[in-house]
Amino acid sequence: MSEAPVPSVMDSAGPPLGQTGRSETGLGMRLTSARSDRVGMWRWMIGTAALAVQVVGSNWPKPHYTLLVTGLCRFQIVQVLKEKPYPVAQVEQLDRLEEFPGALQTREELGELSEQFYKYAVQLVEMLDMSVPAVAKLRRLLDSLPREALPDILTSIIRTSNKEKLQILDAVSLEDRFKATIPLLVRQIEGLKLLQKTRKHKQDDEKRVSVLGARVFRGPVFLGPEVPWGGGGGRKVSTASSSFPGTPALRVPLHPIRTLTPRASVPRGPRLRECCLGFSVLMEFFILEHVCYVFFLHRLKKMPQSMPEYALTRNYLELMVELPWNKSTTDRLDIRAARVLLDNDHYAMEKLKKRVLEYLAVRQLKNNLKGPILCFVGPPGVGKTSVGRSVAKTLGREFHRIALGGVCDQSDIRGHRRTYVGSMPGRIINGLKTVGVNNPVFLLDEVDKLGKSLQGDPAAALLEVLDPEQNHNFTDHYLNVAFDLSQVLFIATANTTATIPAALLDRMEIIQVPGYTQEEKIEIAHRHLIPKQLDQHGLTPQQLQIPPATTLGIITRYTREAGVRSLDRKLGAICRAVAVKVAEGQHREAKLERADATEAEGGREHSEDTEPQPIGDSGAAGLALPPEMPILIDLHALKDILGPPMYEMEVSERLSQPGVAIGLAWTPLGGEIMFVEASRMDGEGQLTLTGQLGDVMKESAHLAISWLRSNAKKYHLTNASGSFDLLDNTDIHLHFPAGAVTKDGPSAGVTIVTCLASLFSGRLVRSDVAMTGEITLRGLVLPVGGIKDKVLAAHRAGLKRVILPQRNEKDLEEIPGNVRRDLSFVTASCLDEVLNAAFDGGFSAKARPGLLNSKL
Ligand code: ADP
Repeated sequence: MSEAPVPSVMDSAGPPLGQTGRSETGLGMRLTSARSDRVGMWRWMIGTAALAVQVVGSNWPKPHYTLLVTGLCRFQIVQVLKEKPYPVAQVEQLDRLEEFPGALQTREELGELSEQFYKYAVQLVEMLDMSVPAVAKLRRLLDSLPREALPDILTSIIRTSNKEKLQILDAVSLEDRFKATIPLLVRQIEGLKLLQKTRKHKQDDEKRVSVLGARVFRGPVFLGPEVPWGGGGGRKVSTASSSFPGTPALRVPLHPIRTLTPRASVPRGPRLRECCLGFSVLMEFFILEHVCYVFFLHRLKKMPQSMPEYALTRNYLELMVELPWNKSTTDRLDIRAARVLLDNDHYAMEKLKKRVLEYLAVRQLKNNLKGPILCFVGPPGVGKTSVGRSVAKTLGREFHRIALGGVCDQSDIRGHRRTYVGSMPGRIINGLKTVGVNNPVFLLDEVDKLGKSLQGDPAAALLEVLDPEQNHNFTDHYLNVAFDLSQVLFIATANTTATIPAALLDRMEIIQVPGYTQEEKIEIAHRHLIPKQLDQHGLTPQQLQIPPATTLGIITRYTREAGVRSLDRKLGAICRAVAVKVAEGQHREAKLERADATEAEGGREHSEDTEPQPIGDSGAAGLALPPEMPILIDLHALKDILGPPMYEMEVSERLSQPGVAIGLAWTPLGGEIMFVEASRMDGEGQLTLTGQLGDVMKESAHLAISWLRSNAKKYHLTNASGSFDLLDNTDIHLHFPAGAVTKDGPSAGVTIVTCLASLFSGRLVRSDVAMTGEITLRGLVLPVGGIKDKVLAAHRAGLKRVILPQRNEKDLEEIPGNVRRDLSFVTASCLDEVLNAAFDGGFSAKARPGLLNSKL
């Protein structure tokens, strides 16, 4: 051996007492236990002299320090000088700090052993990923460092137990050191070979790991698993710590993962059990898919609990474990059953149900259907959400609703980076955690109400989620690992497509869900809403009955909506009122029974009459009496419970003077009827427009006036002084109630013309007619959108005639038969036809022969 012992005195913490290899520095000492015995415990023990570089830690909440040291050399204790307050000993240096003696000479001496060691070392390092800088550096070190230094260096990086490491430390002679290290190298090489074999099966995953590894670890090297050397296949995976950040991958104990998983939803649950059995499976599980996870688990183990990062890392790991990486439900795809279920859950909405069934049928035929993402667009309360829920039910999948209304931060979708305080995953990943499977039905509710802010555009983040070509690799900022969303079935809902960004709209298939007719609403109420409300209020049909006439009363007088949500609420209010009566009745009955029992057997007899009893017309006194079952809600009872009607048929009343016409408007809440009012007064020919009109509507008003002025003679329209110049000394005021609601769009053109024609002709517009259509300066009527909703609104309002642009005639096919029967439709291609249909007896000049204009 070439080592020349250098006697020195050192203490384990303080400054050196005598000469050492680096006498000016303090030396840390680590003792092997191999040769220690109680008698002369310190004597002949071998340790490592080290230079303390950094001490970090605190005494609170409990003492916890981390010492960073640089190893210098081996030493042996010759004599212990004192043991307290800290041990001080005379030591002998066993290997030298300075230059190693001539490498060539060593090579000759150890000959074959050294060569063999070098060969294994090179083989091992070359099996690693050379693109990682640390590996490349290690490879260079193998050639540049003297062979004597290599056993120590390699032992510190390969995966070994502490005991084995100490054995290398104890091997003072170079020959012993080579001999002890070679088996460790061979074992490591075998482990890596096994790993590579597993990787071949999963080429794609391997790519992911190298990308991940490079990104997350910035240079750590995976050096393979701790394979039991020389048998012992059933040996447990050890938890010994490693100095190399990449290596803990396979050393993670199974129980910490279990304790982190209260819901036992460990990713690849079944696999975990296999882990104990099959080593390769364990590798596949941990390395190929959860490198990040293991890396952080390892960090957590080393972190004191008091560190703020501890909670952060723990939360992150909990999320990683809880996410359903590979857990999914099996689809139940039976189209006939799906049809029955959809029909049972929803009345009407045939078009929507048809498209949903088509979608499900294609899924049945081709399981990995990529897109399209369905987007249900329609007014509130028409059942968009509930159809989404039914789709999940028919498929046997979990359902999760993500409300996007008002979301204006892209982190809401994509999560915050973990560097932020209070960071958390986005709604998509959170939703997956909630449902616990990776193939739920996600309902992206109100996509049209996404906001935008300085924190980014959430719609842009949704683009990736909704693109079937990209979403198998969705990376949440918090998670920082790609999650496959391709199995998730996304359904979006919106009230209007106008506010959905074009790129997002492009990724979705729009299915319009129009509002319901009165008849449909009555059916929905009796088939679905009333039974549901009775159930929610603990009532039975034997206790409460709502006849269809009452439902119609609620629909026409207490609600004005395209959907059925208000109707549902009003039915709930009726149920609450009746529940009070029923509860009071039960209380009284119980009291009477008690009284009967205590007083005498011959008590009063209750009437067994079960004839439905209206509760309304008996007034307050009647309501105070215990009601007889079932309670029947008639129109009077309705007034008692819901108060005076909120909407009356005001149409005929409002059309009792010239200068008023009814238009049909489309809003995101469904169709609406809209009164347009005009008046004229002395002035300078100015047009005043009120009612929060948009630019398009203002232009329509100007167009209408221009057309009427140019056709005034033809229709005998005059101003107050009888002049055909309608604006001569005349101001016109046009108003569109409700004034607080912003209105825009071209479809009011025909209504404005009709209204002004009525004003200047002094004739009343028919009170049962509503109209819609865009106009041109030449008097043509152009088509508009939302015909179905508009016609339904006219029908709701009790109107009888609807004037539409001729080119919208095809849209009438969508209108339910009963509505078509109740209404008469006039299709117009020019304004002349509109005016003829809007006024009794037509509007042409010939139709009014008796009307002469006075020039006086
Ligand atoms: P949206 O999402 O369109 O705003 P919802 O799906 O929340 O509306 O529906 C509101 C309520 O109306 C739900 O209770 C739903 O069950 C009921 N509903 C709407 N349309 C129908 C229908 N066609 N058949 C049965 N119930 C319906």
